[in-house]
Amino acid sequence: VIRLAKEGGKGYYVAVRSTLFHPKSGGQPSDTGYLVGDGFRLQVRKAIRFGKTVVLWGRSEQSPKLGEAAEILDWERRYLYMRRHAAAHLFDAALDNIRGGSCEPTDSWLGDDTYVGYRGDPPDESELERIKRFLEECVGKDLDVRSWTARREEVNERRELWRAVLKELEFVRLVQIDGFSPVPCGGTHVRSLREVGGVTVKKVERTESGFRFYYDVSAGAIAGDSSTDQS
Ligand SMILES: [Zn+2]
Repeated sequence: VIRLAKEGGKGYYVAVRSTLFHPKSGGQPSDTGYLVGDGFRLQVRKAIRFGKTVVLWGRSEQSPKLGEAAEILDWERRYLYMRRHAAAHLFDAALDNIRGGSCEPTDSWLGDDTYVGYRGDPPDESELERIKRFLEECVGKDLDVRSWTARREEVNERRELWRAVLKELEFVRLVQIDGFSPVPCGGTHVRSLREVGGVTVKKVERTESGFRFYYDVSAGAIAGDSSTDQS
């Protein structure tokens, strides 16, 4: 804990030097959990990014203190987001595969009423069937999902990444499902598609700029590689 501010009542804002909590960004909701230190236990409701710092907001009976503290992540919630996030990238791959080009994602939300949005025309019935079959085949294949930090040069060499990456960034985090194109992403994902379980497309909705797939992952996925390493 490097700085803190009382909000009034039992509310506190706590700036931390490093954190497990993923702030709300890139369509991924904020993590929740606890920050436990010398004589206090802050119930973390939100992680908020301020530039390069993350500030935790929550409630505590006793005032938090500067110095070392332990973070306890609401793992069930985070793991659901990781499974939904990996599935979101599968929709990119499905569209690329079926339409033979690079799809243009617009927005996504991994909280409740999960969706992923794209530019262009919504899929017709036969395309949708092929997309569903593609998703099913992929999650059955146990494909690896990996991420790494790439230098600008690596991004410059890959034409498919040009559009999506801000020009001023020197480093870019890339995420790749085994066998598909890497995409820039700062979110958290499972290590293997096996952990996603099933993917259900609930509806396809037309939007101003294109369309959205509303979907969810099936409950009760097998805890896989990711649950042994929560970083
Ligand atoms: Zn991602």
